[in-house]
Amino acid sequence: MSHAQVHDGQVQDVEVEDTRTVLRGTPVVPGVGYARVIRPGARPTPVVDDREIDAADRTAEGEKFRAAATVVAERLRDRASRSSGAAAEVLAANAAMATDRGWISAADKLIKSGRPATAAASAATDKIAAMLTKLGGLMAERVTDLRDVRDRVLAELEGAPEPGVPAPLEPSVLLADDLAPADTAGLNPALIVGLATSLGGQTSHTAIIARQLGIPCIVAVGGLDDIAVGTLVLLDGSTGEVVVDPDPATSRAAVAAHRVEAAAVARWQGPGQTADGHRVDVLANVQDGLGARAAAATAAQGVGLFRTELCFLDRDTEPTVADQAGIYGEVLAAFAGSKVVVRTLDAGSDKPLRFANHPDEANPALGIRGVRIALQDSGILDRQLDAIAAAATSAGASPWVMAPMISTPAEAEWFAAKVRERGLVPGVMIEVPAAALLAEQILAHVDFLSVGTNDLAQYTMAADRMSSELSSFTDPWQPAVLHLVARTAKAGADRNKPVGVCGEAAADPLLACVLVGLGVTSLSCAAAAIASVGAKLGTVTLADCRRAAAAVLETADPMAGRAAATAILG
Ligand code: PEP
Ligand code: MG
Repeated sequence: MSHAQVHDGQVQDVEVEDTRTVLRGTPVVPGVGYARVIRPGARPTPVVDDREIDAADRTAEGEKFRAAATVVAERLRDRASRSSGAAAEVLAANAAMATDRGWISAADKLIKSGRPATAAASAATDKIAAMLTKLGGLMAERVTDLRDVRDRVLAELEGAPEPGVPAPLEPSVLLADDLAPADTAGLNPALIVGLATSLGGQTSHTAIIARQLGIPCIVAVGGLDDIAVGTLVLLDGSTGEVVVDPDPATSRAAVAAHRVEAAAVARWQGPGQTADGHRVDVLANVQDGLGARAAAATAAQGVGLFRTELCFLDRDTEPTVADQAGIYGEVLAAFAGSKVVVRTLDAGSDKPLRFANHPDEANPALGIRGVRIALQDSGILDRQLDAIAAAATSAGASPWVMAPMISTPAEAEWFAAKVRERGLVPGVMIEVPAAALLAEQILAHVDFLSVGTNDLAQYTMAADRMSSELSSFTDPWQPAVLHLVARTAKAGADRNKPVGVCGEAAADPLLACVLVGLGVTSLSCAAAAIASVGAKLGTVTLADCRRAAAAVLETADPMAGRAAATAILG
């Protein structure tokens, strides 16, 4: 029996079978966890303290505040040094935030005017949070990090224990509204065997870090609040289901089956191919030399997406051609002799670059972003292409180069000419429905396509990819999105040109097989997902992938699509 329930404005299915409650959300990291529920500890309430500190005590109060911020930063740095990859980056960024000059001086100013340290920390946080929220996109996402830092500093000032996730004594399933990045990054996968949040989306910090840590994870789950601490649950990160008080025998069998799968993943060495030998390159998404070297330690066969803009988010001025060439060269060196797809700057919207002179726009996601920043003045793009060409020459490599956010064949033609002039291989991303619909005409100008399912879902479904409330719309299993992928892949097959997928869809092992069935020729995903995708692909035949793809295209919603694919591909 199933009934619809409205949660945070979304219609959720809550199923009650034989008195068993099954909650559903968006699955983000496959795997099965069966354990008792824990929840994060309470956070300190932001302080509204109206006392006025005596003028004589204000210097000491300021020192107390700075000392607390330093302790918090040191703790976060220490945890960063004991983590790796995305977790280490998030913890290091949070440590930097605890000693951020803007934040510290805003609080200092308030303390000098007589406010107690706790109240000053809270008010300074509100001020900076309002500024970040106004900037929107990635900047607005930092508000959660800043509030997390504030809570840690408040706890330190009040002599309270550090807030956040308790360290459980036995394997547990962690349920929360949402998790601060620092909380997620510090999770121990041996003790947290599953993670479910009421908020969050496929690309939220929680999802990204859970994927890196390999913790089965579901986000945007309705009704989680009703599950009490200590309740036994079975969490399935492939189906997106949380079963409350499940049958113990079934649960143990599901966990055992998952262990067998996990062992196959651990053994997977590549290359990417189906059980019947159909080759599909399994590639890595990277953002700099460090990430590329980490990816090179996996079975990744190359780089399918190098997000160059992420190298420069902190720059006030445009990096020189030589500076850029050095950075790009590091990625080429990490994958010497292998395929590397470099994406030109995807600046704007959630990734503004200070040196790109973004105009003030009401709707930045629909504004001058991606390749559009170069349409009026192609200087930044020209210099970047010069840098890629220089890096290629030094490395003796011949990277493929693609533009983000292409909407028309004319843009593709214009971009391809610039890339070919420099002896490089041109391609474009398919992220806008208009480009998917005209993939055939676009392919007349370029040598390959790469589908960015994150943006393709955002623009197809008219739903902000950063919105957790809308994450069911931006689910890459949305059949409308997959129809556009199918159309793009067919255009590639007709012209005998490669069509890859480099959005989060390619990190979902089941969906990756469906994409192969749709005709996609390569899959590019976070390094942490490579072995799961490759191992799953090795268990299915191309014919089954094609059957699953056809079945999924017949469905009307993501849940039905997952069920149809699971029925064929397991
Ligand atoms: C995408 O949109 O799917 C993509 C890969 O690009 P990004 O996530 O960097 O926008
Ligand atoms: Mg994109």
